[in-house]
Amino acid sequence: MTIDDQSHLKKEAENSTNPKINRYWIQRYDLFSRYDEGIQIDEEGWYSVTHEEIAIKHAERCRGKVVIDCFAGVGGNTIQFAKVSSSVIAIDIDPMKVKMAMNNANVYGVANHVDFVVGDFFSLAPSLKGDVSFLAPPWGGPNYCKVESFKMDMLQPRDGYSLFKIVQSITPNIIMYLPKNVDLAQLEELASLSSPPLTLEIEESCIGGKMIAITAYFSRNAA
Ligand code: SAH
Repeated sequence: MTIDDQSHLKKEAENSTNPKINRYWIQRYDLFSRYDEGIQIDEEGWYSVTHEEIAIKHAERCRGKVVIDCFAGVGGNTIQFAKVSSSVIAIDIDPMKVKMAMNNANVYGVANHVDFVVGDFFSLAPSLKGDVSFLAPPWGGPNYCKVESFKMDMLQPRDGYSLFKIVQSITPNIIMYLPKNVDLAQLEELASLSSPPLTLEIEESCIGGKMIAITAYFSRNAA
């Protein structure tokens, strides 16, 4: 057994027994079907990565487009966008996440369709160009589901209203991946208060028949 094999087994043993990670680790093949081929995930990555089946659905809506994955994390969405879109700009503020996302995109053989950027989305926004912006900002940790109704001001690192305003300066085609308990009236408000108003489509994002999140598709014209 090589040193790499040994450190991989050690990491797997740690992930399977770490109480914070275990409930995500047991879903590892739902997160990345090619998990065993060298996928890298850190602690925040474990609880924030989009399930592959859902990321595939998001990507289907972006076929042939230039997609900006504004909060790319370890690349769960980026990889699926890279498979079907024309190109992807994947941004994350954490250099380690970007390193892992690059590694993971390599595992799927799609890294050359992606421009990886380490940076703060809010600073980069004025210089970004794309057809669709995908937003999966931090939900404030795993406790997001403890509130009855998740409000836009609970999104991190800035509230959903300011985020939405900034992202609209890039493109009106915006996809937001949000907690299942998000206040839908606030999403409708985001769409109707835009100038001109945007069309909003809400999709329940499900795994095994169970809703785990909400995806909001905003656009200028009905698709
Ligand atoms: N969709 C991703 C998960 C995104 S998690 C996946 O499927 O893997 C949200 C990410 O936003 C985290 O990785 C965090 O580092 C990043 N982030 C937080 N603040 C940011 C900012 N200001 N600019 C860019 N990325 C940021």
